[in-house]
Amino acid sequence: MPINAKAYVVSSPTSDLGPGAVERRDPGDFDVLIAIRFTGICHSDIHAARGDWAGVKYPLVVGHEITGVVQATGRKVTSHSVGDRVGVGCFVDSCRECANCREEGQQYCLQGATSTYNSFGRDGLPTAGGYSTSIVVDENYVLSIPDGISLEAAAPLMCAGITMYSPLRQWRAGPRKRVAIIGMGGLGHIGVKIASAMGAEVTVLSQSLKKQEDALRHGAHRYYATSEATTFEYLKGQLDLIINTVSADIDMDAYLSLLSMGGTMVLVGLPSKPLSQRAWSLIGMRRNLTGSKMGGIRQTQEMLEFCAANGLGAEVEVIPAHQINQAFERVMASDVRYRFVIDADTF
Ligand code: NAP
Ligand code: ZN
Ligand code: ZN
Repeated sequence: MPINAKAYVVSSPTSDLGPGAVERRDPGDFDVLIAIRFTGICHSDIHAARGDWAGVKYPLVVGHEITGVVQATGRKVTSHSVGDRVGVGCFVDSCRECANCREEGQQYCLQGATSTYNSFGRDGLPTAGGYSTSIVVDENYVLSIPDGISLEAAAPLMCAGITMYSPLRQWRAGPRKRVAIIGMGGLGHIGVKIASAMGAEVTVLSQSLKKQEDALRHGAHRYYATSEATTFEYLKGQLDLIINTVSADIDMDAYLSLLSMGGTMVLVGLPSKPLSQRAWSLIGMRRNLTGSKMGGIRQTQEMLEFCAANGLGAEVEVIPAHQINQAFERVMASDVRYRFVIDADTF
């Protein structure tokens, strides 16, 4: 018998999200049925709901920062048990056979990973995300939430956390590495905490001085407002690694000029329009411009353990479901400290 879950649904790019329902498959042999407790509001949910990206199909249930408790398991499930605290991130399946899947980079699956929403599962059904009371996911794509992180603080780690952790590890954030985060929103604030826990020297580049105190509390060593021209003069050539979380059009050449020789800017923010930068901004100092998408399952579990060991979690504002539309507006206005998380009991 399929399971009927309550959900918040969006039916067009211009309509508000509202109460509805979603059908979940009956758990198969390898499936885990999760009673959702909390779901974070990622800016990607807003891009998807508003149709900023091509290929969005409505009606749509977004949400890929999910934590909850295992309610039932298929008879062959070995990695999770009823009552376990678990999480689900941006994808719920992948081919498991391609080179990238085999190397634990399921998010880069050559067949295309199955996104938690706006995709189709092996069962042929459209996937639906975490703005909902329950979800059924193959055990291999379900993470364990370590003791010591609350489920509300862990929810944003499932996307924002791993999206920052992965490039920080890949480009070796650590002692003596001068790391900057552009944009201190949902991704950015977790990036600051993680980079600082890795021992890096962390700079925040934010539009204004409004978040300065919070940034220092999150572990940043330096904070600059990008609205002040002196910031770019002062920091020229001073950074080894920049993680760019911004989804708006910014002056790429100005930010690239802050990199030292051989320094790297990693794009994680997803602007809907193409970016542009002068070739000389890279060539002049052999700088690198690259990008990074979430992280694989093993690395996501590693990130959760790292956060637990370092006492890290997202700083969240828990809201009831009926405030989702208002929360979307506030995220778009950069007015969130620092992640909205929906209490699933209120769907
Ligand atoms: P968010 O909470 O809205 O944070 C983005 C931050 O960017 C804002 O808080 C703001 O920080 C800064 N910002 C906003 N508008 C700006 C502008 N016009 N100029 C300069 N800075 C601006 O969003 P998020 O959830 O962190 O997501 C950020 C982006 O990453 C989104 O595009 C999302 O889709 C994408 N994303 C990518 C991945 C991936 O795998 N690559 C995963 C998740 C999300 P300040 O107030 O500090 O300036
Ligand atoms: Zn996300
Ligand atoms: Zn694959």
